[in-house]
Amino acid sequence: MICMSKDDIFYNNEIMYSDCPVCGGVKTLEITNRTDNIPYFGDILETAVSCNSCGYQSSDSISLEHNDPVRFKLKIDSTKLSSRVAKSQTATVSIPDLGLKVEPGPKSQGYVSNVEGILNRFESAVLRALKLEGDDIDPDVQENALNIIDNLTRIKLGEMSTLLILEDPFGNSVIDDDDADKELLTPEEAEKLQTGFATFDESEVE
Ligand SMILES: [Zn+2]
Repeated sequence: MICMSKDDIFYNNEIMYSDCPVCGGVKTLEITNRTDNIPYFGDILETAVSCNSCGYQSSDSISLEHNDPVRFKLKIDSTKLSSRVAKSQTATVSIPDLGLKVEPGPKSQGYVSNVEGILNRFESAVLRALKLEGDDIDPDVQENALNIIDNLTRIKLGEMSTLLILEDPFGNSVIDDDDADKELLTPEEAEKLQTGFATFDESEVE
């Protein structure tokens, strides 16, 4: 597996110019790389691009820290809604009892939220999926989705408790609660997690 290490990054607050992929402007795209230290996440590299010609803007951040792969488990109910959750862009969040899981993709962002924020994110995702299906929705799919929303609401109201799991192969995520169980992932478990990065086995790269 190839990972970027801090030694690979030579630039800091350095501006580069490139051609704009949107308007085709020549050297109009300003690229700024900046390293920063963020609570919970450690050192990150932020890349921001903006085009002087068409105004196109985009930004992305990647973690420069590689800590031990970790899993946090917390039994959540209405008393845990304000517990801090820091999720890096390489983390997987799941609520197995409800069949909910968010795996990192290329567009994943890290965020610091709390348990209620995580529940709200899941709720929005289910609602979005329902809306996408529209009127042609399979009745079973619809019932399942409504059940999930009902259960998320019951957790928030204190009528139900369930297990929240946060797994990060780079160890840059945390459920910041004294009752949370923290365990290290075995190399096999870490390997199975998606990271959102394109990774290659060294043997595949000639
Ligand atoms: Zn442009």
